[in-house]
Amino acid sequence: MSLLAATIRQSSRYISNQSVAHPSITRAMHIQSIPMWEGTGNNYAYLVVDDKTKEAVIIDPAHPPEVLPVLKKQTEDGSIKLTQIINTHHHNDHAGGNSEILEQFKLPIIGGKDCAKVTNTPAHKSTFSIGESIKVTALHTPCHTQDSICYFVEDGTDKAVFTGDTLFIGGCGRFFEGSATEMHKALNEVLASLPDDTKVYPGHEYTKGNVRFAKRVLQNDAIKKLEEFAQNNKETQGKFTIGDEKKHNVFMRVNDPAIQALVGHTEPVEVMKTLREMKDRA
Ligand SMILES: [Zn+2]
Repeated sequence: MSLLAATIRQSSRYISNQSVAHPSITRAMHIQSIPMWEGTGNNYAYLVVDDKTKEAVIIDPAHPPEVLPVLKKQTEDGSIKLTQIINTHHHNDHAGGNSEILEQFKLPIIGGKDCAKVTNTPAHKSTFSIGESIKVTALHTPCHTQDSICYFVEDGTDKAVFTGDTLFIGGCGRFFEGSATEMHKALNEVLASLPDDTKVYPGHEYTKGNVRFAKRVLQNDAIKKLEEFAQNNKETQGKFTIGDEKKHNVFMRVNDPAIQALVGHTEPVEVMKTLREMKDRA
């Protein structure tokens, strides 16, 4: 029995080594989180690197004192070739670092129309690449701001979406420039239609507060699991998927009968509107 178990272990190790070596399964995309304003804004900038060519983009480098040292070091030691700044929306804690980054790196800026120094606003569902292996699809999700864009990235194996202040782990952004109709569309049509195994990388670490609110509105196993994870991990970005959000994010469960009963509406946009008002008052 133990010999058989050893043989199985051996062969599975062999198979997994084979898989790792296979070019179509080799990971081509590397995502590095750069926390900014920890303890206050709890923002994230993200460095996305195509491992093969080392071409890289920096997403929302809003606080240059925390981002520039990372960019300079990796540029100087040859681990990245920075090609673009990407912004999720125009707010200062996302696009406010553009001018200072441009003083050190001459780069085009991809982002919504109101982002500082923006050079190109990609159309909804238009695509571009990072290096040879990473395909990016721009998804317009107006509401938190009218120029909010989420970026879906895929390398053939891994899928991720950078959601700015539209979708957080277990929550969503405030409706500063838009309506419940727009947020419903952004979350429950545009982002919900991404593959369920797409990892979510939001603009802020807000998970603990989002769970507190979610528990007032709904009790389910997914919310319990999210709460447990958030209690034991300081960072939650990239640890949950669009499929998980559909289970633990109350703003993506506007059709849940328990939530509908609580808010006193069944129409999805009304449910979204009421949930957001409750969260704003919380
Ligand atoms: Zn914002």
